[in-house]
Amino acid sequence: MDSRQGGFEDPPSAASSATSSGSLVAAVEARPPFSFEITARCPHSRARCGCFHTPHGPVYTPRFMPVGTAATVKGVSIPQLAETSAQMVLANTYHLHLMPGEAVVAEAGGLHRFMGWSGPLLTDSGGYQVFSLGALNRIDDNGVVFRSPRDGRRIEITPERSMQIQMALGADVAMAFDQCPPWPASEAEVIEASRRTHAWLERCIAEHDRDDQALFGIVQGGCFPHLRRESARVVASMNLPGIAVGGVSVGEPVEEMHRIVREVGPLLPEDRPHYLMGVGSLREMAVAVAEGFDLFDCVLPTRLGRHGAALVGGERWNLRNARFRHDHTPLDASCSCLACRLHTRAYLHHLVRSEEMLGRTLLSLHNLTTLIRFTSAMAQAIAQGTFSEDFAPWEPASPAAHTW
Ligand SMILES: [Zn+2]
Repeated sequence: MDSRQGGFEDPPSAASSATSSGSLVAAVEARPPFSFEITARCPHSRARCGCFHTPHGPVYTPRFMPVGTAATVKGVSIPQLAETSAQMVLANTYHLHLMPGEAVVAEAGGLHRFMGWSGPLLTDSGGYQVFSLGALNRIDDNGVVFRSPRDGRRIEITPERSMQIQMALGADVAMAFDQCPPWPASEAEVIEASRRTHAWLERCIAEHDRDDQALFGIVQGGCFPHLRRESARVVASMNLPGIAVGGVSVGEPVEEMHRIVREVGPLLPEDRPHYLMGVGSLREMAVAVAEGFDLFDCVLPTRLGRHGAALVGGERWNLRNARFRHDHTPLDASCSCLACRLHTRAYLHHLVRSEEMLGRTLLSLHNLTTLIRFTSAMAQAIAQGTFSEDFAPWEPASPAAHTW
């Protein structure tokens, strides 16, 4: 890989490293902390399998990443999370800054130790939450000022501040601080948000200096193809170890999202991981994988789980429904998660109806397992050359639905 920001260096040449075992060891140690290798390609689409190496282990792609907003995937313990085959897990900068504060996390030795997850972690920049949740007081080119929803105190987040917080948290991947425009937004509003996002990205790069943490840039541009193309060009030119597409799944019609994915996918630098932010439905992930996207996240699997809903065969099932009361079969016979291995639909129905905590945990585990299993099945299909038949386009009713 080329030299790039964030500790990327050319590997030592063979001539300088292969002369003795001592220098071979040195060559191994000199491996950059982040690299992305493509291990298989689909001959009929842009889909690829890859491995993103991080200081806390590999992330095999395509892959769904569970969201652990407040340094916990809600209702799921760390051993249970590991059992879902999760590799990279997300945490949220905005929420952790408000509580417990990044100083406490740094004091614990960083986010991995604080939450007890030894695999790869990614923190988002807090931008999306600032714009969507906070009582926003001011936004200008410097950054944003808002009132804490917790205690009303005034908080200012600038690109530099977001980097400082994320460096203190110490996840393997930090995300650039961006301005995510709402949907719908006028062209003028999106132009303004994109301009700011690009200017802020330069400031994030200047501030970020942790070699053991990769900084990903974020493409914005709303639903305007020319603004998406321009944003992809600008962010790609920064030569970062990974690139994300944001501002999707913000309420736009699903056809718009597909259009953005098809527009932007081919413009992203081929040799970096591509992360489609906030997307985690089966069809949308399949559409995006076909355009070369590798990483996905979504709060839906745990949110649905907490509300008594399960993802089965591409559908959402409400386990409260009386039809499950006497159904003593597994939730999903093809799934090997804890809920499907040990329990029945009737038992899960009973737990949900009685508002038992375990019901929420089991359904969250099943939903996470389902999305991760779906992305693993896509990876397998790409490696076997059957992706375009089985998954692109993927519909729950398609004959290929049995393949995962
Ligand atoms: Zn299951």
